[in-house]
Amino acid sequence: MKTSLPVRPAILARQTYEAPAEGRRGKIRLDFNENTAGCSAAVRKALARLSAKDIATYPEYEVPTRELARRFRVHPDELVLTNGGDDALRVFFDTFVEPESHILICEPTFPMYRYYAEIAGAKVDVLHYGSQMEFPLAKALAALKKRPRVFFLANPNNPTGTLVSNKDLEKLLRAATRTVVVLDEAYAEFSGASVVPWVRKYPHLFVARTFSKASGLAGLRLGAVVARRQSLAFVRRAMPPYPVNLAALVAAVAAFKEGKTIAAYVSSTTRRREWLARQLTEFGARVFPSAANFLLVDFGERGPSCFRKLARHNILIRERGKDLGLGYARITIGTQAELNAFLRVLREQD
Ligand code: PMP
Repeated sequence: MKTSLPVRPAILARQTYEAPAEGRRGKIRLDFNENTAGCSAAVRKALARLSAKDIATYPEYEVPTRELARRFRVHPDELVLTNGGDDALRVFFDTFVEPESHILICEPTFPMYRYYAEIAGAKVDVLHYGSQMEFPLAKALAALKKRPRVFFLANPNNPTGTLVSNKDLEKLLRAATRTVVVLDEAYAEFSGASVVPWVRKYPHLFVARTFSKASGLAGLRLGAVVARRQSLAFVRRAMPPYPVNLAALVAAVAAFKEGKTIAAYVSSTTRRREWLARQLTEFGARVFPSAANFLLVDFGERGPSCFRKLARHNILIRERGKDLGLGYARITIGTQAELNAFLRVLREQD
C-alpha cells in the first residue's frame, strides 16, 4: 500500500540519535558518570517490599513528592518529579520553546539541550567554553540581550567539570529577565553548590536535578525540576499524568531516608577525584579542574594508544576525540579498585 507519513519538518531534518552504548554490564564503566559503587542496600530492600498489587496500581505522587521536597528543602509545590534528568530538560521545550525560537547553550556541554531543540525545530545559539574550559561570562551576558527563550547551563558542566560561581550566576540571572534560566545541577552533590534556595527570589530560575548520579538510581530513571511555585505551574500544564514509575519513587525515598550511603559515596568520590587528577598529571596528561564526579583529561598524542589499551581490558571511558581533540576523554570517578585497574592498564607498555 502506498502511503505518506506526515512527518514534521524538524524530524525530517534530524538524524536518529545513536543509541547509547549497550553491553556495558560486567565491564569497568568509567564512561557515563554513574555511581559505580551501586545504590544503597536500603533501596533494594524497599523495592523488594513492593507487592504485586502495588505494582498493578497507578503511582500516587503526593507523599513521595512531599518526602523528596524535604530532601531539596523546598515546598512540594516547588518540585516536579520527572522520568529521569533527561525528561526534566524536555519539559522546558514543551513549556517555553516554539519552532524557530532560540535557546542559548555553551559548548561543549550535555548534548540533550541541542537534541531537544532540534526536535522542537528551535534555533540554537552557541557560546564556547575557553581554552582552560572556563565559562565565557561576558559573552553569555551579551547573548542574553537577544532574549533567547531558554538558557541551559549545566553547573558543574558535563564534560568540562567547570563550575560557575554564585556571583557569576547572579549576574546571569539579573541579565536574563526575559529568558528562562535552566541550571542543570545533575552533579551538584559533588560540587556542594546548588542554587535551589534561590528559586523564590528568581521567578525565571528553574533547577533540574537527577537521581542518576550521586543517588545511584540511573537504571530507574528519576529526575526533578525545582522552581518557584507560580513558575512551575506552567511546567505542570505540559506534564503527562503519570510521568514517573512507582519503583523510582520508592527507591528515591528509601535512598534519601537512609542517607548515609549517598553522603559517604559523595565525599569519597570527591577525594578520589583529586587523587586521580594528581595521578594523571604525573602520568603526563592535562587534567581540567572538575567539580563533578568525572575528569576531563587530554592525553595528547598518547590518547589513541591509551584508549585502545583500556578498551582491550574492558575499561570504558568516554572518548571526546571527535569534538575536543584527539587525546581528550572524560573519565568517571569510579571506586578505588576501578581506578587502580584503570591506572594499571594506562601505565602498561604498549
Ligand atoms: N544533565 C547532565 C549535565 C548530565 O550529564 C546527565 C546525564 N549524563 C543528565 C542531565 C541526565 O541524566 P539522567 O537522565 O540519567 O537523569
